[in-house]
Amino acid sequence: MALVGKTAVVTGAAMGIGRALAEILLENGAKVALLDINEAAAERPLQALEQHFGAEKTIFLKCDVESEEQIRAAFKKTVEIFGGIDILCNNAGVLNETSWEKTISINLMGVIRGTYVALEQMNQLSGGRGGVIINMASMAGIGPLLSCPSYTASKFGVVGFTRAMAAASEASGYGIRFNAVCPGFVQTDLITNIPVRLGQFSNLAAATHKLVDVMGTIAVSDVAAAALELLIDDTKNGEALLVLQSGATYMQFPTFNPTQNKP
Ligand code: NAD
Repeated sequence: MALVGKTAVVTGAAMGIGRALAEILLENGAKVALLDINEAAAERPLQALEQHFGAEKTIFLKCDVESEEQIRAAFKKTVEIFGGIDILCNNAGVLNETSWEKTISINLMGVIRGTYVALEQMNQLSGGRGGVIINMASMAGIGPLLSCPSYTASKFGVVGFTRAMAAASEASGYGIRFNAVCPGFVQTDLITNIPVRLGQFSNLAAATHKLVDVMGTIAVSDVAAAALELLIDDTKNGEALLVLQSGATYMQFPTFNPTQNKP
């Protein structure tokens, strides 16, 4: 899918990976609605993007992905301004093992909420134009991170949801592709103050730091490039793309269920 003239929505777009996703979408000719709960953090990046790509190409909408109402309002506004939605990047996420219910609510339920509301706009069966949905998972969605059980659960959930939605979309004819990006450690605010984020697992902070040292970190631009590949390649549906320092790898999963589940 060529991105020129398409409309994209990115959640958690004020900083980190979300900001890089917005930038690569704009570089490739899309218009982007940047959604984030943190309006202040979005101010400067938005100004920079407006200057570089043109104010008519971007819009910031304050939106908490824990609220279905706020998501629906933000998507409605995006459609009013840009005329539709072709791409959704469900990217907003947190790492907080103490507030584990919030971690699940933002990382997993936020992805499900965002997707179901987006279907109302994007599903070809209900008059939408179809498109692509990218969900930001993690390497913790492929294998467990010992110090972050709830975060791991949320990201395994994102990978499972993405693959099931891809199969449902293909079988039903939504005209929407669904793919998950699974980055290793990325140099963003999310991996600062690790011991504080781990709550009752803070005794495992040293092991986590060691893992960061061994695996290294990747740049937000590496993650955005992987997402771009999944966005533009029309053959990609139901993929989980692991992105590490050593490169990007499409994960292989057992194939017993999707075909048998087809109606
Ligand atoms: P970040 O902390 O730099 O950015 C996260 C953004 O999400 C912030 O702008 C924040 O305000 C926003 N956000 C938080 N809660 C929100 C909510 N309820 N509603 C809307 N926006 C909200 O983190 P990041 O590293 O850029 O993380 C982005 C995504 O990438 C997350 O889903 C994260 O789990 C995932 N990820 C990060 C890493 C990493 O090492 N940094 C690795 C793998 C996956």
